Amino acid sequence: MKKISVVVPCYNEADTVGIFYRAVMRQAILLEKYEFEIIFVDDGSADSTLVKLRSLAKEDERVRYISFSRNFGKESAMLAGFKAADGDYIITMDADMQDPPDMIPAMLSAVVNEGYECAAARRTTREGESPIRSFFARRFYSLMDRISDVQLSQGERDFRVMTRRYLDDVLKLCEHNRFSKGIFAWTGHETKWFAYKNIERTAGTSSWSFKNLFRYGVRGILSFSSFPAVLPAYIGFVTGCISVVMAVVLLIITIASSVSPLLWIACLMIFLASLILTAQGVNGAYISQALAEDRCRPQYIVKETDADRRVAVVKEKEE
Ligand code: UDP
Ligand code: MG
Repeated sequence: MKKISVVVPCYNEADTVGIFYRAVMRQAILLEKYEFEIIFVDDGSADSTLVKLRSLAKEDERVRYISFSRNFGKESAMLAGFKAADGDYIITMDADMQDPPDMIPAMLSAVVNEGYECAAARRTTREGESPIRSFFARRFYSLMDRISDVQLSQGERDFRVMTRRYLDDVLKLCEHNRFSKGIFAWTGHETKWFAYKNIERTAGTSSWSFKNLFRYGVRGILSFSSFPAVLPAYIGFVTGCISVVMAVVLLIITIASSVSPLLWIACLMIFLASLILTAQGVNGAYISQALAEDRCRPQYIVKETDADRRVAVVKEKEE
């Protein structure tokens, strides 16, 4: 019997994990020829998510969980789940029902029957999202399309069904600063896309602040494009040409009129200083990312798993 592992990152999802569990298990009934497991990864939630996960794991042995010592971010949570998953097919989806579980059978069929290594979901609308967030998200995808080594799909989600082979390839990329959408695309395996209209969270609010999304976007660009690092060199070349022209103009002005060229020189100096600062900032961003990779820190620390809990319960009964 083939096995499906569903990996679910959770941060403060106490109100949604139960709803999610029931919705996915309805799909498990339809896909009865598969063995199912759900691996919830509690990413250091501050609410009662872990308590809810413990009780789900107690009631149903198909439920597993991993709980982090603190909040390490969605990427780390997905990674921990991927490493723990031993299914033949691996699904990752959010806990808040924004990734519709009823898309699973069609996506699975693309992988099982049509020979795709991956089937992934893509939102065609962003209703319910703040206009500012939608605007920057769209600009981010267009920018990535132009400057990065990988091709992302407009509105793409992390929600996907993967073969074992696909996931093993994803796990071969061992960078610390993970940007999964880029990693998925980088593997080069053919993906079948499933479009759907955005669905709002079933409860709670998004845990991504604008600052976090911005950082995540920067991480994506730094991981999959070297364009920002070389951009100052292009700008430097252009401004170098401009400064030669300006020098000639300034010379003419100085000869023909009484306008002080010092004003222009001051302007030019400020302009050049801003270029140097920009270049330094970009270099700094790359160096800090390289340092983070070099430090070899673990991507997360596990505090508790369902296996620990089950051992503890057995011990309690024996005593
Ligand atoms: N999530 C996580 N760690 C975090 C932030 C989010 O594991 O630090 C999980 C969250 O519980 C959800 C998924 O990642 O299952 C997507 O998060 P959210 O719904 O807040 O993001 P959005 O849908 O607004 O992009
Ligand atoms: Mg969400």
